[in-house]
Amino acid sequence: MSLFLIKGAQVYAPEPLGRMDVLVGGGKILAIEAQLNTELPNLEVFEAKGQILIPGFVDPLAHISGGGGEGGFASRTPELNFNDAVRAGITSMVAALGTDAVTRSLEDMLAKAKAINALGLNAFIYTGNYHLPSVTLTGSVSKDIMLINECIGVGEVAISDHRSSQPTSQQLAELAAQARVGGMLAGKSGLVFIHVGPSDSHLELLQTVVSQTDIPIGQFHPTHMNRDSALLGAGIAWSQTGGSIDFTASTNEHFIAEGEIPAAEAVAIALKRGVAAEQLTISTDANASLPVFDDKGDLIGLELGDIASLHKAFQQLLLEQSVDMTDAIKVCSTSAANILGLPAGKISIGDNADVLLLDEHRLSINSVFANGQCLMHQQRLRVKSPF
Ligand code: ZN
Repeated sequence: MSLFLIKGAQVYAPEPLGRMDVLVGGGKILAIEAQLNTELPNLEVFEAKGQILIPGFVDPLAHISGGGGEGGFASRTPELNFNDAVRAGITSMVAALGTDAVTRSLEDMLAKAKAINALGLNAFIYTGNYHLPSVTLTGSVSKDIMLINECIGVGEVAISDHRSSQPTSQQLAELAAQARVGGMLAGKSGLVFIHVGPSDSHLELLQTVVSQTDIPIGQFHPTHMNRDSALLGAGIAWSQTGGSIDFTASTNEHFIAEGEIPAAEAVAIALKRGVAAEQLTISTDANASLPVFDDKGDLIGLELGDIASLHKAFQQLLLEQSVDMTDAIKVCSTSAANILGLPAGKISIGDNADVLLLDEHRLSINSVFANGQCLMHQQRLRVKSPF
């Protein structure tokens, strides 16, 4: 059993606990004390003065088995590099297919999630994809959620988008009912993760389902809500009726020029307008394809959604948007774990030891622990994966 004593970091649980020693063993956090002097065989001691200790980041959307393809076959994107996820401090992530469920399969994505789990991070999946009726592994959304450990919900289901299946509110209500009951029976969230596209209908379809059926608003978690200021406004209104929303951290200059609001800025705006940090999450949309255009608007290339974008957004929340540390940790970790129903997002005794050590000024990631294993120390990887 690996045993680690992390000494003298400023601990945020996400609430500030002050300067603490943290003992990690058997995958769990075993003790948090102001002064721990333990002499145990095989104990590895890390001096962590000048660093903050926070829960690992939780990413509600990563295309771990690749995505894209919307600009033809040449625009298909590669699968996620495991070591990049470690360097980015993402200790839990949820995978989705996206637009293409013909050449991309849930089987392939589940295999990639299992590979990530075997290497030491925590990967989960959404069944389904953009379109309804949903593609599934077992023949139904409820069965996938109940019978497949890694499957916690369904998504990204697309609405307000020309790439969606143009679902009706009835279809969406039936899907949410299946996910809800599957989740209840399996002790999971059964979340319906919604891709919201650029059309002006925004969240109208979800509002119809919530107002006309018994499905509670918390069954849905819409993403890309920082796509433009009108959609952000619709998201804030949704939050004010009890809903939660997700912002996409991966972006480029073209998207920002077209009106996208960087995720950290969107969080700051939402917090100022009274949305609680518990209702806000940021996802990376890692390995999605981001088109790059020249000045004339011609497509000149593609960029990849970046798994490191959640950490960058965390830095921006603190260093540029003056968001308080506890709220920043909630938005990048705790809130997502709670909304997704994952055992993550907290530093407390008996919890999974998913822990990051960051430089307290620059907020760069020095060390990463997941499930009590040290996967990176002093920015040097200690992982088994070559890629
Ligand atoms: Zn999407």
